Amino acid sequence: MKRREILRGAGLATAIAGLAACGGKTGPAAQSGPDLKLKWKMATAWPTNFPGLGTGAARLAELITQASGGRITVKVFGAGELASAFEVFDLVSRGTVQMGHSAAYYWKGKLPASPFFSAMPFGLNAQEMNGWLYAGGGIELWRELYAPSNLVPFPGGNTGVQMAGWFRKPITSVADLKGLKMRIPGLGGEVMEKIGVTPVNMPGGEIFSSLQSGAIDAAEWVGPYNDLAFGLHRVAKYCYYPGWQEPGSALECMVNKEAFEALPKDLQSIVEICCQTVNSQMLAEYTTRNQEAYDTLRNQHGVQFLPLPADVLAALRQAATEVLDAAGAADPFSAKVLASVRAYQARAKAWHLISEEAFYDARR
Ligand code: CA
Repeated sequence: MKRREILRGAGLATAIAGLAACGGKTGPAAQSGPDLKLKWKMATAWPTNFPGLGTGAARLAELITQASGGRITVKVFGAGELASAFEVFDLVSRGTVQMGHSAAYYWKGKLPASPFFSAMPFGLNAQEMNGWLYAGGGIELWRELYAPSNLVPFPGGNTGVQMAGWFRKPITSVADLKGLKMRIPGLGGEVMEKIGVTPVNMPGGEIFSSLQSGAIDAAEWVGPYNDLAFGLHRVAKYCYYPGWQEPGSALECMVNKEAFEALPKDLQSIVEICCQTVNSQMLAEYTTRNQEAYDTLRNQHGVQFLPLPADVLAALRQAATEVLDAAGAADPFSAKVLASVRAYQARAKAWHLISEEAFYDARR
């Protein structure tokens, strides 16, 4: 009896706190001032504090809480805590939570153009992705795509170029890939399908057990830093490069549109600036930790890092062109985004040939 009363009391307190946190629909004026105390929830597509991705989301929550002087307190929920990794979009869109941290290509089934804002096969690397998003019109297109879903997206991290994936047997030709069941999401999965692979999408947390049980034959996740954390080297010994499917994957921070627009301008800026901070910090973290994990995987675990054969890459490149052309033909918004990315990439390639690439060659 007493326990029930306590629970009821706690429920009421939570309800009151919830109402105070939401601030109702009374507009920005009611939400300004130093006494503002918003309690936001952030749903993420990653295990809590998973290296790079989960820690990036946690850092973002901490930064917003600190920079706002506690006017917004953000609590992070890992994949599966509120809902599955693939429900983050809906949770934020509905306003069940105010923020989400995930990757845009997870929403391909809802918004066919969404993958272009995370990774395009044989597309932009991290530096170019940031260039396109921040200075080349990318964010504007992303906002336009997400607005009808009641979401405001921000770049929320970047992994840099990923690895092509883990295989149990060596890949010496396109024939070796045929018939394999591989975890590979987004447009990369469609490309693999064209050359005979069965692509599967699943949250990162399920990859190890699926590889171990034989439910899948191969998997791509991110790269040494993250793949070591999941122990993928314990179930596959061959790691292939380069990550043609994800040359510079952008992560996303999504904010519920009403929650964002109800913020006073300074708090809107704080959210935006904190996202930008995490975007660059995460790339710095991947750049550094991947080097260390690469060394560990190679020298302590005997992993073989191998380049995909040239003819396999050529087949994938050809399939990627067809997949991208088809994506553009099937959906007008995808066509618009694809035109923007391709134009950007053509200029970036020409410029980087005499800048970044020329320097890499010179440094060798
Ligand atoms: Ca990946």
